[in-house]
Amino acid sequence: MERIEHCYINGAYVIPQGDEWFDLFNPATEEVIGQVRLGDARDARAAIAAAKAAFPAFSRTTRDERLAMLRRMQAAMAAHEEALFEAIVTEYGAPVSRARWMAAYAHQVIGEAADTLAHYPFERAAGAAQVVMKPLGVAGLITPWNSDAGFICGKLAMALAAGCTAVIKPSEMSAIQTQFVMDALHEAALPPGVFNIVNGRGDTVGAEITAHPDVAKISFTGSTAVGRAILRGGADTFKRITLELGGKSPTVILDDADVSTAVPLAVQAGFMNSGQACIAGTRILVPRSRLAEFEAAIAAEVAATRAGDPRDPATAIGPMVSRRQWERVQGYIRRGVEEGARLLVGGEGRPDAMERGWLVQPTVFTDVRNDMAIAREEIFGPVLAILPYDDEADAIAIANDTAYGLHGYVLTGDNARGARVAAQIDAGRVLVNTLVHEPKAPFGGFKQSGIGRENGSYGLEAYLEPKAVLVG
Ligand code: NAD
Repeated sequence: MERIEHCYINGAYVIPQGDEWFDLFNPATEEVIGQVRLGDARDARAAIAAAKAAFPAFSRTTRDERLAMLRRMQAAMAAHEEALFEAIVTEYGAPVSRARWMAAYAHQVIGEAADTLAHYPFERAAGAAQVVMKPLGVAGLITPWNSDAGFICGKLAMALAAGCTAVIKPSEMSAIQTQFVMDALHEAALPPGVFNIVNGRGDTVGAEITAHPDVAKISFTGSTAVGRAILRGGADTFKRITLELGGKSPTVILDDADVSTAVPLAVQAGFMNSGQACIAGTRILVPRSRLAEFEAAIAAEVAATRAGDPRDPATAIGPMVSRRQWERVQGYIRRGVEEGARLLVGGEGRPDAMERGWLVQPTVFTDVRNDMAIAREEIFGPVLAILPYDDEADAIAIANDTAYGLHGYVLTGDNARGARVAAQIDAGRVLVNTLVHEPKAPFGGFKQSGIGRENGSYGLEAYLEPKAVLVG
């Protein structure tokens, strides 16, 4: 049984002043596998003070000095990849293939930040003025449980690339992953106070970081509801705030799509990360004229998609992260039936043969109307909705009829047509006939999916402020 007691403040492992212990579970067995000691607002304040004290010297480091630090961080995270992989499978329940990808991403994303830093123009002319991009100050980085190590590393690497110092509040549910991140970053031997990690609850540690006057910037990934609280909490001190929030992304299958190519992509996009992905394509828009054909193919594809033990390499869908999340998803499946959507495959309860674990049956509803809750609200589980449409204009209208705008997918036999449709979808990123991302491209949401962008130079600028100097 793991007992994780330390936070990381001012270059040292410290026992937090908060003394509440939080149980950690293995979602595949429902067993308690450890406990983490949660810090509180006092620990957040100590971390902020350390980051504030470290900022003046760190903000004056050269590009090359920061590049060297990022490369050390990347190497240290890579050295912990295997341990991180184990933690992701055990505490998060990610299927092994997904967990491998997530563990590698945690160091790759630091490499991406280093590449961005290597080429970023911090100084430029604007007419007769000289513009310098200055680091904002102390950055508060608040992350969710789904892929936590990757989010921590991605945000921290960009903040440090910019010359900011950081206070990280990870999800309390990913304390084992966080422990490996802490160990790796400690080995990278950054100057004390440059990064600090405080385990704790959102409404104590998270709220303190959000409201504290010595924090200049918040970068948050999580739910739209908490994003609202953060925007309000940061208003008094006019914080620069980046919000990466929820989604209800459309997968538009055009009428020229080949069923055998489009359906596996649509199902993978929908069930990504066991359905616990902000960018999951959870609304599949299908031409009404080919509805029966697509329903049959989607049902067959889903039936062949194995939900079960995350350690079995044949498993594509693992458990939900918590009992609460499992119950929430079950509630949406009931709601879909009550709303009159037709259950094509799956339904309430666990997959056959699973007695334990927070597993959900991969579920697809069809004949879904876009005003139903299962088409409007983020479920965050393996539950998809098929929405029939009449023509291309109707498909685009349905795709955009949502409060969210994080992501979209277009599947078609004609890439040029796909790009034209993608251009009309109101979302921060749209993939046409692929599930492969470009790490340098901006990532973030339109509408209630967020504010601001991460990745590449767009992501770096989220931690910078332009300053113009004009000499007369
Ligand atoms: P969450 O919003 O419940 O929690 C996210 C983090 O915020 C946690 O660390 C939590 O402790 C903290 N928090 C909670 N209340 C707070 C408060 N009042 N002040 C400050 N911090 C607070 O989200 P979650 O359940 O951990 O993650 C799932 C959600 O994250 C989904 O909605 C998903 O779409 C979203 N998400 C978005 C992206 C993206 O890039 N857009 C990526 C992954 C996940």
